[in-house]
Amino acid sequence: MLLPGATLGVLGGGQLGRMFCMAARNMGYRTVVLEPDSNSPAAEVADQHIQAEYTSHPALEQMAELCDAITTEFENVPAESLQFLAARKPVHPSAESVAVARHRIQEKDYARKSGLSPAPYACIQSADDIAAAISVTGLPAIIKTTTMGYDGKGQQVVNDQQQLESAFNEMGQVECVLEKKMDLAVEISVLLARNSQGEVASYPAAENEHRNGILHKSIVPARVDTVLAEKARQQATGLANILDYVGVLAVEFFITTDNQLIFNEMAPRPHNSGHYTMDAAVVSQFEQQVRVMCGLPPGDTRLTSPVVMINLLGDLWPVNWQLCMQNPALKLHLYGKHEARAGRKMGHFNLLSASVDEAISAADKVFEQLST
Ligand code: ADP
Ligand code: MG
Repeated sequence: MLLPGATLGVLGGGQLGRMFCMAARNMGYRTVVLEPDSNSPAAEVADQHIQAEYTSHPALEQMAELCDAITTEFENVPAESLQFLAARKPVHPSAESVAVARHRIQEKDYARKSGLSPAPYACIQSADDIAAAISVTGLPAIIKTTTMGYDGKGQQVVNDQQQLESAFNEMGQVECVLEKKMDLAVEISVLLARNSQGEVASYPAAENEHRNGILHKSIVPARVDTVLAEKARQQATGLANILDYVGVLAVEFFITTDNQLIFNEMAPRPHNSGHYTMDAAVVSQFEQQVRVMCGLPPGDTRLTSPVVMINLLGDLWPVNWQLCMQNPALKLHLYGKHEARAGRKMGHFNLLSASVDEAISAADKVFEQLST
């Protein structure tokens, strides 16, 4: 067990790394960030910044020397780097878990083996696979690159074989997955923390609304059938157990118009849809990340208030902060990014209220004011 005073390392200097470092420092741990950029949200709040590429062996060596345990803020960190570190110090989640979660086909295969239900899918490695893939998924379908996609990037809806062929070409003929386009009633996500003793704590499901492929809003508790929400929680836990996953895991689900629970994807880290836990749960997802990498029992996931989280993208800049701060139940989180670009996640707010409907209308009102 690693106790306060120990040093924790994180690969990646983005906002997730920043919020991890802030939680760790609050809890009395020292923090080290490995990040190639000189200027990053996480390095700004860490005790130490190692400025180097994720693949630099001297930098990884230094990190292993400085840290008692290491985690990552993103899944696209090279597996070889995680393995290099794991040969020297505890690394959670493991390189193997991260490899599964970063690969759309592997994660769906795993989910299916664990009894979850992904949308019908097929792998496309070359143009020769296209007709067979369509016969599995039907049309319309969505083609996604198997790796490196995020915030709706690296995917395209296709309505016929010709569109699929050109989409596959546009993606540079890299390995892709084709999925049936489901009729979605709502999207939810389940966040959990699991430690190396196999103890798991899951949060209540969040209801998620995306705009232009980017998460816009999370509503908790989700306004969905409680049986389905509970089933999602159980399925996410089952998946973490089968992977022998250690860390914070986010699992995204679709609920279709005919009430099926569909596995979409998972993230081997804290998740944007879990930012509400910073203000409306007993223990936040970033405290959980600290706890489980330190071998401590997972924290209490109880919701302390209905809450709505809204992302603040660069499109809103410059923001009228005076307007934003009028609501006394609004908790603001900014990531310290120096340049606002369209679509860039600059921060978020959590708005707490006595009822979920009140939280939604208050949060929508603030967002609307900021947008005009
Ligand atoms: P990302 O890694 O960019 O989050 P996702 O696979 O989660 O990629 O897809 C982004 C969004 O696209 C989802 O949140 C959902 O709104 C929509 N989407 C993705 N796959 C499907 C599908 N099979 N059927 C219907 N909508 C989908
Ligand atoms: Mg997603």
